[in-house]
Amino acid sequence: MKKILALTLLLLSVFTLSACNDERSTDKLQVVTTTTYIGDMLKQVGGNYIEVIVLMDVGVDPHDYQPRQSDTQKVANADLLVANGLNLEERMGEVFRNVENEKLLILGDYVDEASLLREENGEIDPHIWFDLEIWMDLISVVVDRLSTLDSDNSDIFEKRGQEYVKDLEILDLYIKSRVETLDESKRILVTAHDAFAYFGNAYGFDVYAVQGISTESEASISDIENLAALLVELDVRKVFWETSVPQSTVNALIEATEDLDHDVSVGGELYSDSTGGASQGHETLIRTYRYNVDLIIDSLME
Ligand SMILES: [Zn+2]
Repeated sequence: MKKILALTLLLLSVFTLSACNDERSTDKLQVVTTTTYIGDMLKQVGGNYIEVIVLMDVGVDPHDYQPRQSDTQKVANADLLVANGLNLEERMGEVFRNVENEKLLILGDYVDEASLLREENGEIDPHIWFDLEIWMDLISVVVDRLSTLDSDNSDIFEKRGQEYVKDLEILDLYIKSRVETLDESKRILVTAHDAFAYFGNAYGFDVYAVQGISTESEASISDIENLAALLVELDVRKVFWETSVPQSTVNALIEATEDLDHDVSVGGELYSDSTGGASQGHETLIRTYRYNVDLIIDSLME
């Protein structure tokens, strides 16, 4: 009996080992992404069939991310680099230029011009992950590219892509149902930098921010004073920090409203240009977006 047990255990361990080896097979596609949102999309579509390396850590600001030497190496070793583009990764131009076209996928290049939002100065708003319609369209672009590089698994990428679209449709319905519970007059979102215009556009919020669509340009004192005056005029009582931007920006705005005898407090910290982390359970776009919406609605409802 003991012998049979030992043999079974041996067979089991051999089986497990070989399963592990398959799991780590090096012939999997190696995909590098810039942001956490894109990394999540690739993981959703590629599952265990690809390896995903995300260059920017959770909480990192992509606007001022300076690529490291090791990033260049990771990109050189990869089969594909997927980036946001639209000048989100402002300091990574050289990295992109050094990658051959077949190994580079800039998602922003595939967004319909009419769906893109622009600042008053004509600059394109790069925060496209908060527009779920755009993001859903981009899933098919990712599916196509992965399928070109690994045609054996194209059916799997296609199926996983479709499932991810369905999950995002459910998220969209959830957001709409939450927003409906908030009085229209309270749908005003004020954040550190202008990352939520696509959210505002899709779900009927007016959005304002201390800084513009990039965190690279500092807000002037007069910008802050003007925004403070607007908060008084609109009777806004809550403003939001962002995990990838220093809190001082929003704190300066609160101080400016205090000077106008208007009581404003922080509604919480939103995820803007990075997803949350696995330790908080917010490591995907869907979990991040749900968290943001719950926080926004609950705070503004107070
Ligand atoms: Zn941003």
